[in-house]
Amino acid sequence: MSGFPSFPYRNTKLCVESVALDRIAAEFGTPCYVYSRAALTAAYREFDSAFAGRDHLVCYAVKANSNLAVLNLFARLGSGFDIVSGGELQRVLNAGGDPQKVVFSGVGKRPDEMRAALAAGIFCFNVESEAELATLNRIAAEMGKIAPVSLRVNPDVDAKTHPYISTGLKENKFGIPFDEAEKLYLSARQFAHVHITGLDCHIGSQLTELDPFVEACGKMLGLLDRLEAQGLQIEHLDLGGGLGIRYSAEKPPAARDYVAALCADIGQRSQRILIEPGRALVGNAGLLLTRVEYLKHTPHRDFAIVDAAMNDLIRPALYDAHHEILPVTANGSNAKTYQIVGPVCETGDFLGHDRKLALSQGDLLAVMSAGAYGMSMSSNYNTRPRAAEVMVDGDRIHLIRERESMEQLLAGEKILP
Ligand SMILES: *Cc1c(COP(=O)(O)O)cnc(C)c1O
Repeated sequence: MSGFPSFPYRNTKLCVESVALDRIAAEFGTPCYVYSRAALTAAYREFDSAFAGRDHLVCYAVKANSNLAVLNLFARLGSGFDIVSGGELQRVLNAGGDPQKVVFSGVGKRPDEMRAALAAGIFCFNVESEAELATLNRIAAEMGKIAPVSLRVNPDVDAKTHPYISTGLKENKFGIPFDEAEKLYLSARQFAHVHITGLDCHIGSQLTELDPFVEACGKMLGLLDRLEAQGLQIEHLDLGGGLGIRYSAEKPPAARDYVAALCADIGQRSQRILIEPGRALVGNAGLLLTRVEYLKHTPHRDFAIVDAAMNDLIRPALYDAHHEILPVTANGSNAKTYQIVGPVCETGDFLGHDRKLALSQGDLLAVMSAGAYGMSMSSNYNTRPRAAEVMVDGDRIHLIRERESMEQLLAGEKILP
C-alpha cells in the first residue's frame, strides 16, 4: 500500500498504472517527472460530472502543470483553461485547446498579452483593477473588438492556507476590493469596448475545508443579485480554483462534494458556472523520480543526497511543503531517519526532513504528489538542466518532455565581442 491510488506497490515495486518506476528510471534517467494518464482523466471527470445537468465549464489552471501533453489530454476531455500569461495562451493553442473556453487571469496583463488573447478570441478576461479595465478597453478599441470581461472580486475570506498561496484576503494584491466591486461594475458600462459578462473570484490554493469556498460563494451570489437588480446582465459566475489535495495527513473534500456544495448555494440561478482547479486535477497524478547519489552520516544527522533538487521541485524550500517520499523498491529493514536533500548549494535545498527509510546508494525514491507546481515552477538554478517528463498510459510510457540538454540551457546567452 503506497497510500496513493494511482501509484500502487506490486511485488514490492512502486508502479504507475502497469509500469514499474524502476523501468522508467532505466529508460529515461533521473530526475524525472512521471504522470498517470488514468489519474489525470479520473480527476477531470470527477469535477466535470459533479455538475450533473448544470451549464458549466471546468477551466484547468495551466500554471499548475503546463506540459503540452497534459494540456492536450484535458482539451480532449473537453476542458477549458485558466491562463495567467501570453505564454500559457500559446501553450493552450499549441496543445489544441479551444480559445473559446479560455479565461485569462492575473494582476499584470501586458498590452501584447491582451492583444494575443483578443486575437485568439478567448472566453473572458478576469480583470483585477480599474486601470487594467481601461487598458483593455483601449487595446480592444484599437483592434476593433469588444473584450468579454469578468471583474475578479476579492471576497475577503480567510482561506486558512499558507500565507503565500492565500489570495482572497483584503490585504492581498489580488482582485478588486469587495466593497468597491459594485461601483466598478456600474462604471464599467462607460467603456465601449469591454462587455461585462461575468463575475469572478479565487481565494487561494490548497484549501482543505469547504467553509471558505462556501463563504466566498455566498458573498459572490449576494453581489451577483445586487448587480442584476441594477440591470446588469451577468452570464457566468467563476468561482476560481484552490481545492486542496492530500499530501500527507490532510483530508480535503472530494471534488464532487466541493462542486455539490457550490451548486447547492447557487440554487436555481441560471448563470453558467466556471471553476479553475489546478492542483486538484494534476497534483496526485504525478511524482518526481530521483536516485540516491550518496548517503552521508554525520554525528548529528543522516543525509540522503539525491539527484533531484530545489530547482526541480521548489515547494519544500518555498512553502515548507511536505511531500511523501517512498522507496521505489519497498525493503523495510534497517530504516534510519534521513534528511532527503539535493545537490544545490543552499541549506533550503531539501525535499524532505526526518524520513524513516532503509536506503542504499543508488536506490530510487519517488517524491509523491508532485504533479502540480513541480515542473512548472522548476528552474535552472546551479545550471541544472530541467528534468525529463513522461506520461504512462496503461503499459505504455510516453516521453512528453525531453531532458533539457546543456546546449538548450545555454542557447540564447552571448559573450561580449
Ligand atoms: C493558481 C490559480 C488557480 C488554480 O489554483 P489551484 O490551487 O491550483 O487550484 C485558479 N485560478 C487562479 C486565478 C489562480 O491564480
